[in-house]
Amino acid sequence: MTQIRVRFAPSPTGHLHIGNARTAILNWIFARKYQGKFILRIEDTDAERSTATSEQSILDDLKWLGLNWDEGPEEGGDFGPYRQSQRLPLYQSHWNFLKEKGQIYPCFCDEEELEAKRQAALQRGENPRYDRKCLSLSAAEIKSLAAAGRKPAWRFRVRKGEIKWDDLVKGEIVFDSEYFGDFVIVRPDGMPVYNFAAVVDDGLMNITHVIRGDDHVSNTPKQILIYEAFGWPLPAFGHIPMILGPDRTRLSKRHGATSVGELRANGYLPQTLINFLSLLSWSSESGDELLSRERLIDEFDFSRMSKSPAVFDIIKLNWMNGVYLRAMEIKNLAASARPFFQNYPIDISDETKLANAIELVRDSVETLKQLPAAVEPFYRNELKLAAEAKEISLRESSQKIYWAFLRALQNCDRLDADAFRAIMQQVQKETGMMGKELWAPMRVALMGKTHGPDLAMAAQVLGKEKSESFVRSLLS
Ligand code: GLU
Repeated sequence: MTQIRVRFAPSPTGHLHIGNARTAILNWIFARKYQGKFILRIEDTDAERSTATSEQSILDDLKWLGLNWDEGPEEGGDFGPYRQSQRLPLYQSHWNFLKEKGQIYPCFCDEEELEAKRQAALQRGENPRYDRKCLSLSAAEIKSLAAAGRKPAWRFRVRKGEIKWDDLVKGEIVFDSEYFGDFVIVRPDGMPVYNFAAVVDDGLMNITHVIRGDDHVSNTPKQILIYEAFGWPLPAFGHIPMILGPDRTRLSKRHGATSVGELRANGYLPQTLINFLSLLSWSSESGDELLSRERLIDEFDFSRMSKSPAVFDIIKLNWMNGVYLRAMEIKNLAASARPFFQNYPIDISDETKLANAIELVRDSVETLKQLPAAVEPFYRNELKLAAEAKEISLRESSQKIYWAFLRALQNCDRLDADAFRAIMQQVQKETGMMGKELWAPMRVALMGKTHGPDLAMAAQVLGKEKSESFVRSLLS
């Protein structure tokens, strides 16, 4: 059996969008499932829009997601280089091959002229298509245009008839070549156009499955024609449906965070994104939604991909992130949360205290970004009372509890959870109060509000000194 080889081929013109991240994830899962190779190729032939910073940020995001690749620009491989800007001689030789074959011809039409013809076709209600004006240029005409310094684009001479393929996701797709006409594969400056470079690369890199967003469906028939011209076998194509926002328009900035970097900065975990993005347009036969990487690899199957667009559901993303956050080892969770405390005015140098505080609030948050505010009550120097708490603290019964608590606290060196429970038993005996009447005033005194985490643990995290001074501040 031939080895499965798939690629992710981002253009480094911006951040890693979640649509592209999903494409990368599905390619990665597919490669891992069949012990194939996952290849990273940087498509940077658009020199004006490509930047090294974008490339780096895309690589960083892929690494953060844990998508390891087998061949790529930094690690190399047998089919390199893996950056298109370093493959120009390869495009040149394949361009020459097509020239010699008579498969392409020079086109001297200028952009203005082409645009005017495009507009005229649209007005007539026709699909714009190149009229093959330059196909009839004689050798002498071509020579004299070139001698005059005119640089041509190179157009692929499209054969008549249908072009079809059996898409892994969408089933059979058929195009009539009349639909698009002769297309440019090399620009006047000698740079290859995406469709040409992608086929040369996919062909030379022995890519067996081209899995990408369905915004590329209309490129595929052109690419198939180029494969035919080289006499290369076709890879399988799979086009993944696009992602929509809740209003069912294409997901964009208007809908909020749309890049992996933004979601990361908003406190989502890589394991959540892998799981969540895989489930956009795909579902496991088991119906389960919480799927580890291993299960995704095990259960993924193209036959369970949906043909229609997927809707990005932030509520589901939040829920899933909360689940993964709760499942983390507390040490890892605290380490992942640390960066979110930067610029947050609390001192988290005590690692144990931070881990304990996070443990107490992790059930009440869904993202890492929410953790600083959630643990802040444990780092206060002064008690801050919520509106409803004030009234409770002033009750006569509450005051009795506070006095009894302070008396019992005197005999305790270190206020840990057990000591706190013992003290509260004593307070209960002394005051005769129990249940809500006993606990609500204590909760108010330590946390400033009427609801929150386990109070014994909260007292331990707060420590004896602060617990004492908070209770004291409420004595009237
Ligand atoms: N550079 C193209 C993109 O980012 C790759 C498309 C493809 O996978 O063929 O859309």
